[in-house]
Amino acid sequence: MPELPEVETVKRGLSSSLLGKRLVEVVVRTSKLRYDVPSTIHELVQRKLVNIRRRAKYLLLDFEGSMVMLSHLGMSGRYTIFSPDEVQRVFPHTTNGGQLSAFGTTTGYEGKHDHLEFKFEDGSVAVYTDPRRFGFIDVFTLDQEGEHPRLVQLGPEPFDDWDAKDFASKIHKSQRSIKLLLLEQSMVVGVGNIYACEALHRSGISPRTLGTTLVTQTGKPTKKLQILVHEVQDVLKEAIDSGGSTLNDFSNTDGSLGYFSHQFQVYGREDEPCLKQGCFGIIERIVQGQRSTFLCPRCQK
Ligand SMILES: [Zn+2]
Repeated sequence: MPELPEVETVKRGLSSSLLGKRLVEVVVRTSKLRYDVPSTIHELVQRKLVNIRRRAKYLLLDFEGSMVMLSHLGMSGRYTIFSPDEVQRVFPHTTNGGQLSAFGTTTGYEGKHDHLEFKFEDGSVAVYTDPRRFGFIDVFTLDQEGEHPRLVQLGPEPFDDWDAKDFASKIHKSQRSIKLLLLEQSMVVGVGNIYACEALHRSGISPRTLGTTLVTQTGKPTKKLQILVHEVQDVLKEAIDSGGSTLNDFSNTDGSLGYFSHQFQVYGREDEPCLKQGCFGIIERIVQGQRSTFLCPRCQK
């Protein structure tokens, strides 16, 4: 499932290939993803793509005339970008509007899950592929963005406007575990299960620790909480950086932009030895809020 670093990588990949280009055609092969693809998507045609932003795990594509396309990748959504040259050379018959996408030899599944194609005036094409169809698209105007139900309740971004002081003020009375608090989108957006586990492991904090115990009596963040906030930011930044290098490899081959595997220290490593130097603990898996948490009981207190 794409998490924040993957979405940021997709944002950068789409930006470097498509920014400033005019959209000339949208092919909708599947009108229902998680929700219906709005018919207003066709109003984006003949507009230039002027900016791409990320908010939590949402991509926001700004088109001329203050039109915004929101894209969420769900569980398995990804974009593949084809250069004008590739389209000419390999896929010369793509604009026939047939049932199946002609890009399937590259995007996989014989093109059965290529739900959307975005064609730009220079001939480049972005294909949206999503086998599980949990992703979704919405289109609205910039002045509607502030009230968009998906965006309005989001907490701060982990890098820009979030810090230990802010986090402490939200969790100082909380009897919930720190792992679940990190996943709460009103606390901080886009941390996700994998990176919450990784940041807690790096910080040496047990995922079962209650929020309130990480705040002093006067409401200030404890040293531990400060370290945790720092590690959350670091682990996300490192993943984005490694995504950046993966992205270069990708664009040399098939231009596929989606999710990729990282080297995790604790996530998915049940029964394996802890990788922290000097710690000889064994990684355990527990369930919190119906989701797996991986931890080292020896170095996470
Ligand atoms: Zn350990």
